[in-house]
Amino acid sequence: MTSIRVGIAGAGIAGLTTALSLARRGIASTIIERTTQLSEVGAGLQVSPNAGRILEALGLTEALDRAAVQPEAIDLRDGETGEPIASLPLGAHAHQAYGAPYRLLHRADLQSILLEAVRREGLIDLKLGVEAEAVAQAQDGVTLFLDDSALSFDAMIAADGVRSKLRSAVKGAAAARSSGRTAWRTTIPIGMAPRDLPQERTTVLLSRAAHVVIYPVRGGRQINVIVVIEEDWREDGWNAPGNADVLRQRFDQDGTRYIGRLAELDLPWTRWCLTEVDPGGAWSDGRIALIGDAAHAMVPFLAQGAAMAIEDADVLATELASAPVGEALQRYQAQRRPRVSRVWKAARQAGQIYHLGGAMAFARDMTMTALGGERLLRRYDWIYGWRP
Ligand SMILES: Cc1cc2nc3c(=O)[nH]c(=O)nc-3n(C[C@H](O)[C@H](O)[C@H](O)COP(=O)(O)OP(=O)(O)OC[C@H]3O[C@@H](n4cnc5c(N)ncnc54)[C@H](O)[C@@H]3O)c2cc1C
Repeated sequence: MTSIRVGIAGAGIAGLTTALSLARRGIASTIIERTTQLSEVGAGLQVSPNAGRILEALGLTEALDRAAVQPEAIDLRDGETGEPIASLPLGAHAHQAYGAPYRLLHRADLQSILLEAVRREGLIDLKLGVEAEAVAQAQDGVTLFLDDSALSFDAMIAADGVRSKLRSAVKGAAAARSSGRTAWRTTIPIGMAPRDLPQERTTVLLSRAAHVVIYPVRGGRQINVIVVIEEDWREDGWNAPGNADVLRQRFDQDGTRYIGRLAELDLPWTRWCLTEVDPGGAWSDGRIALIGDAAHAMVPFLAQGAAMAIEDADVLATELASAPVGEALQRYQAQRRPRVSRVWKAARQAGQIYHLGGAMAFARDMTMTALGGERLLRRYDWIYGWRP
């Protein structure tokens, strides 16, 4: 058992996984979360094997398997016609190739699984409804300032998301900036879903007007739909309501018939401004470190934001268990930044490729079809096959 005490701001996927990873190495932590209840927020989550393996090592395999769907494949289709482009084999193939399945979950289910594990863990103190306001450090520790009190720790981990308040305590940290895109999300109860809406698979529709991802969540009882469009709209939070007329207009203009059918369904949409944080900025400063979206929020085109947060948590906990705090946090940054930067850039590049139009899109589709699903999947071995 290590005698340091770690403060964690934020009980999102990064904060909860960090606390569990620390506890597994005998390190006690306190999580400070500003909301009183961790509610049903946000979109579904694709949990790729690189992250799944870490969650499994935390003893969560059974709970994950109860809540998740393991898709047979990722199908890439033309967004205008619905024509298939390529199909990346997942299912048993991915499990065998990467040592863990590719899982589809509702974000709230993953958060509940983590939260239950946190509540069972004696080394973790979870404080809900408390906002971290600022953090200051001295040679022998950090002070976390709350609304009307303060807490002392040996290290402070800012897992407070893309709009992190604590980021300003890390000298040289990059600022958050809008990517010029928004993500729209809805879920369709399985009984209401159009019969030809694909189930038990992830479907990705490619078009200049939008990037659409469709997959089952909640053990297959709902279909999660995410539509990413170029749009300069900025607002905080996971659950701003979205007016589907914006989507309908967009698809009318671009003649995107296949995608347009989704916007025609009478469903409640939410809208989320896609914000980035360049991973090239500093992630640690003395006894304070950033993790997850606070350090490196990325566009979701490779579905790796939460996966990178989970990987971060594992590496950070290993380092804190084996070196003095300042050195451990520097080693964490040195280990994680090259990998996250590569994933971050690849996600941006994927966004550009997915949004091509005209002749470029035709060439893209031909190349993908010619390569075939298995070879396309192998191009992601470096992401899914990563081990700490
Ligand atoms: C549309 C979309 C689809 C995505 N799909 C995927 C996917 O399929 N797979 C994947 O891996 N990733 C995906 N991502 C990325 C993923 O959602 C994020 O990377 C991940 O949720 C980041 O987790 P986090 O814990 O760092 O931040 P958050 O989830 O933002 O958590 C931060 C927490 O900190 C709390 N907090 C904030 N400020 C304070 C404060 N001052 N004091 C106390 N608490 C505070 C918040 O209330 C919150 O609970 C997607 C993102 C989007 C937008």
